[in-house]
Amino acid sequence: MDPRLPAVEMHPSRWGDPARAASLPESARGLVEAVFGIDERPAATDVAVPPPALDEAVLDALRAAVGAEHVLLDDATRRLRTRGKSTPDLLRQRAGDLSDAPDAVVRPADHDQVAAVLALAVEHRLAVVPFGGGTSVTGGLVARREGYAGLVSLDLVRMKRLLAVDHTSMTATLEPGLRGPEAEALLAAEGLVLGHYPQSFEHATIGGFAATRSSGQSSAGYGRFDALVVGLRVATPRGELRLGSAPASAAGPDLRQLLLGSEGAFGVITEVTARVRRLPAEKVYEGWAWPSFEAGAAAMRTLAQAGLLPTVLRLSDEHETAINLARPDAIGAAGASGCLMVVGHEGEPEPVAARRTAVASVLAGLGGTPLGEEPGRAWAHGRFDAPYLRDAMLDVGVLVETLETATFWSRVPQLYDAVRTALVGALGEPVLVLCHISHVYETGCSLYFTVAASGGDDALGRWQRAKAAASDAIAATGATITHHHAVGTDHKPWLPAEVGELGVAVLSAVKAELDPTGVLNPGVLV
Ligand SMILES: Cc1cc2nc3c(=O)[nH]c(=O)nc-3n(C[C@H](O)[C@H](O)[C@H](O)COP(=O)(O)OP(=O)(O)OC[C@H]3O[C@@H](n4cnc5c(N)ncnc54)[C@H](O)[C@@H]3O)c2cc1C
Repeated sequence: MDPRLPAVEMHPSRWGDPARAASLPESARGLVEAVFGIDERPAATDVAVPPPALDEAVLDALRAAVGAEHVLLDDATRRLRTRGKSTPDLLRQRAGDLSDAPDAVVRPADHDQVAAVLALAVEHRLAVVPFGGGTSVTGGLVARREGYAGLVSLDLVRMKRLLAVDHTSMTATLEPGLRGPEAEALLAAEGLVLGHYPQSFEHATIGGFAATRSSGQSSAGYGRFDALVVGLRVATPRGELRLGSAPASAAGPDLRQLLLGSEGAFGVITEVTARVRRLPAEKVYEGWAWPSFEAGAAAMRTLAQAGLLPTVLRLSDEHETAINLARPDAIGAAGASGCLMVVGHEGEPEPVAARRTAVASVLAGLGGTPLGEEPGRAWAHGRFDAPYLRDAMLDVGVLVETLETATFWSRVPQLYDAVRTALVGALGEPVLVLCHISHVYETGCSLYFTVAASGGDDALGRWQRAKAAASDAIAATGATITHHHAVGTDHKPWLPAEVGELGVAVLSAVKAELDPTGVLNPGVLV
């Protein structure tokens, strides 16, 4: 087997490594039964994938571009490249709806092969969906196929090289198909680390992080992914863009920013040059308790504005703290009261000790209670596990989904209330709405909501209505429709409220210039 192919493919209608799929832990099952009732909902099996609709001449041209063995038409591969991993995506897969399956999965080896596939797409009018890890939660992999001769999933899985390391400038150039742990292992061999740990880290890719402006759990210390990127190479139907020739530049507007977050609609990112750090010698995570979400959030603001941010800083609201979501292995077990904050420090022992003391002194002074390292260790241990619970909840008929936004500090209480009210109103009791803050800035923070409600016979429709209500509430408070999940197709209706019709027109003009025939991810972003 080609060593560049993924060691683990995710199940088509579940999250993550199939070997780690879990049923509900006993503590959670009790809670679910008490609150929502158990309503077993097995996923449809052996659903046929619509037959590929590409003619042989086009397939031969694609085979000539990337090699015959890298143009795949089989049902299993096409099923695995159908949509992403939002709850609506999973619900559609579970219901046996494979109408968005690509006609072919094409796996280029390098930039030139990507460019060759794009040229063929223009020539034969093929819609092309760049596919990284397939963890999109905003419909970023659900392109429009009407008006196209076929739909091709451009699977970047073979593009997995660490192309260059500059130890003097502390940058590394990576190919887009590297999954989080693969990039981490290559950099660790150089004594380096990227420091980007979204919850989807184990499956999402370098190209996907850049294409969606992803933000990880250590964003307070390392920065969001778009802040790590110093250079990009991009293949577009009009040719190549190489961006980022210096650490900073006044040569007009920063074109890298146009490509970061462009979700495969402007071009295919084929190389990412990112800032790297030395591997941390020490990692320490600890818990703090706060009497209220407001008090904990005020403490986060104080740290951010004092320039005293730790590497990890997250705060669960009273609801999330009580449910114990920070510890997926103990979900539903008697939770703590108040609000749990996790504070993590990574780096060399001396600066870690100094910062830890300084941060602790600020937090204690503001009314925080230190809980020691156990809650921090528990969080770090289970940090990538929570998504498996969503499948277990869907199995018993409970709708679970997340959404996120961000705003300035002065508007956080209003945003928090508006989103909660919208979700509770749309879904009706019983519903659980949990929230945490995990990305903070001097001027504001993101709010990340987790929602659980009974799904019933129309779980998809129920979620779509709730999501629309929450999105309207977000727009009405002037917050962003997405802090780090991107626009995709799901957030598109709210983009004009955020950037204005003129802003959308600017994005459309960029798309028209780079992709004049509209073959790249049609319907995504713009
Ligand atoms: C359980 C779960 C947890 C998550 N947690 C986080 C989190 O903590 N933080 C966070 O930021 N996000 C999170 N996400 C969202 C998702 O993981 C991110 O958006 C991630 O950056 C997507 O990367 P990917 O490689 O999976 O991209 P994909 O899902 O494959 O693609 C995402 C979009 O980018 C485009 N694209 C992919 N690769 C390229 C490329 N090389 N060039 C151009 N376009 C490309 C695709 O066409 C698509 O529109 C989570 C998702 C799930 C399901």
